[in-house]
Amino acid sequence: MHSKTDSVQSSAEALRYPLENHPGPDQVVEVMPGVLWARLKLPFRLNHVNIYLLADGDGWTMIDSGFGNEESIAAWTTLFEGPLKGTTITRLIVTHSHPDHVGLAGWIIERFGCPLYMSQVEYLQSVYHQNRGTAERLTAQRLFFCRHGMDEDLTDKLLGRGQDYLKRVSVLPASYRRLTHGDEVVIGTRRFKVITGGGHALDQVMLYCAADKLFLSADQVLSKISPNVSVWAVEPEQNSLGEYLASLASLTTTLPYDALVLPGHGVPFYGLKTRIKQLADHHEERCGLIAEACRETAKTSKELVPVVFHKHVLDAHQMGFAAGELIAHVNYMLVEGRLTAEAIDGVLRFRTT
Ligand SMILES: [Zn+2]
Repeated sequence: MHSKTDSVQSSAEALRYPLENHPGPDQVVEVMPGVLWARLKLPFRLNHVNIYLLADGDGWTMIDSGFGNEESIAAWTTLFEGPLKGTTITRLIVTHSHPDHVGLAGWIIERFGCPLYMSQVEYLQSVYHQNRGTAERLTAQRLFFCRHGMDEDLTDKLLGRGQDYLKRVSVLPASYRRLTHGDEVVIGTRRFKVITGGGHALDQVMLYCAADKLFLSADQVLSKISPNVSVWAVEPEQNSLGEYLASLASLTTTLPYDALVLPGHGVPFYGLKTRIKQLADHHEERCGLIAEACRETAKTSKELVPVVFHKHVLDAHQMGFAAGELIAHVNYMLVEGRLTAEAIDGVLRFRTT
């Protein structure tokens, strides 16, 4: 009796990628009238970031700026001399403080003399990243990783990565305009609701246009990869994963299933709720592996990394993210009462309750 409903629902919510061909380095793709998509290269395994342009009167509002290196500047120069020739950027909205999104904000702002919009937390977090690398912070980071069972050699690699990764930004503009959850932003003929969420970043900005069912999801919901959700030394007991799952739950209850999602990486897609469920299930699966591994003997985060990331061979860059991700799962499970922690000789060991 219910099979017909099921099939209607599952086909309506299946993941679909209406624009499987992404823009090349000298191209922009029109997603719909007044919405352009560009794609810049990144020097990581995650090798690109998406930039969107929204028609805004005589010019365009840019969403995210790209990574702060010479290659991104060259890529923008090619686009502004090619398909975007004569284009004026009226404002720049940066979704969050990670260097692939905020990196060239200073360069864009200077070139077009336009304002920068961010959430307050993400702007201040960008300032924090620009000023990191002091001896005190390095010591705090070292202690944090040691407490999770990472030895000195590994910690050196992780810290080396962190410094290198987060410094790759152009000089951040000295002022910004604030976007807050619940704000309405008018961009050209469209009205967007500002939605913010934690987990991947502290207070990442997403934009939703109800009239066009258009959702700019930033890195909160990606088409093909699971966004990094980590814990860092600055807030060792942060429940990033709990924040992330709460944000996903809120998105799935407030947005329609048939919105077109424009993510920060990957390709535009339909099937928001299906994708959200996949992401939540993926984290629950990892929690299950951790619970299983800590049932017989208490384990450190370091010992749990290969349990959760058994399919991957990790370089130092990826190991840094893996360690942060693992600790996010552990902290979440502590909050949920699924694990207990015990410090033995200053190293945390976790046991399933
Ligand atoms: Zn990103």
